[in-house]
Amino acid sequence: MHGEPKSKSEILSVSNGTLTEADARAMLERIRWPNGAHCPFTDCGGVEAYRIEVKGGKLKSGRFVGPRHLFKCKACRRQFSVTKGLIFEDSKIPLRTWIMVMYRMCSSKKGVSALQIQREFGVTYEAAWFMCHRIRYAMQDKNPMLLSGTIEADETYIGPRRRRGHPLQHERIRDEQQMGLRSQPNRDWKQGKQIVFGIVERGGKARTMHIKDATKEEINPILIKNIDLKASRLITDAHPSYRLIRHHLPHDTIKHELEYVRGDVHTQNIESYWSTLKRDCSGRSTM
Ligand SMILES: [Zn+2]
Repeated sequence: MHGEPKSKSEILSVSNGTLTEADARAMLERIRWPNGAHCPFTDCGGVEAYRIEVKGGKLKSGRFVGPRHLFKCKACRRQFSVTKGLIFEDSKIPLRTWIMVMYRMCSSKKGVSALQIQREFGVTYEAAWFMCHRIRYAMQDKNPMLLSGTIEADETYIGPRRRRGHPLQHERIRDEQQMGLRSQPNRDWKQGKQIVFGIVERGGKARTMHIKDATKEEINPILIKNIDLKASRLITDAHPSYRLIRHHLPHDTIKHELEYVRGDVHTQNIESYWSTLKRDCSGRSTM
């Protein structure tokens, strides 16, 4: 593609921090306008624009402005820069920092926090937070397509491990359970956790959402809304909530009490997705 970085050295300069502001600008221009700049104003849409370089200097107000790299539309005569209408517009953060932060966020499997960005790039926390926020916004799928092919779905519980009370109290409860004075061990491990439902297209995209209850009333509409039912097959564990989904699309289940893989029937993709997600959330696996 035209817009991709020109060479390995360009990618290297992004990853090792030697990208210059001029390189960053040139890269963005090439990615945005592979066939030459055109007018970004929606009410014009002119296809011809030319480059103008405005020298920096002291304004009448006494404020100093650096040189500006602009374009001018031949049709509407308005000036614009390569960042016009993009997430970097009106930002005082250098373009090179934006691009390096984008690379850092996309190349890290476990995600990056604003605090990490602050430390690594020497920007303020506010600037780091602002960049993370805008970059994540830009990465959203604005027109999500239906998932298709072999789909794995599963639900998981995310949240803190709760142990209320004094450790000695837990010890006493355990002793009483062992002595038969207390009937049920505390099975309420789900308390305080949130349920996340996930759908993964094998070799493709994943979609996750927060649900209140892992019931068929909540889960089935999500599956029907997100999957191309005519071109897909669903694989899940034997959770009863999935029982009726076979009326909408072919459905295979794997009983985890008995087996984990049966031919190509397994839910390993969604499970490895959960384990990455949980490591990211807590810094350690909670599975
Ligand atoms: Zn124009």
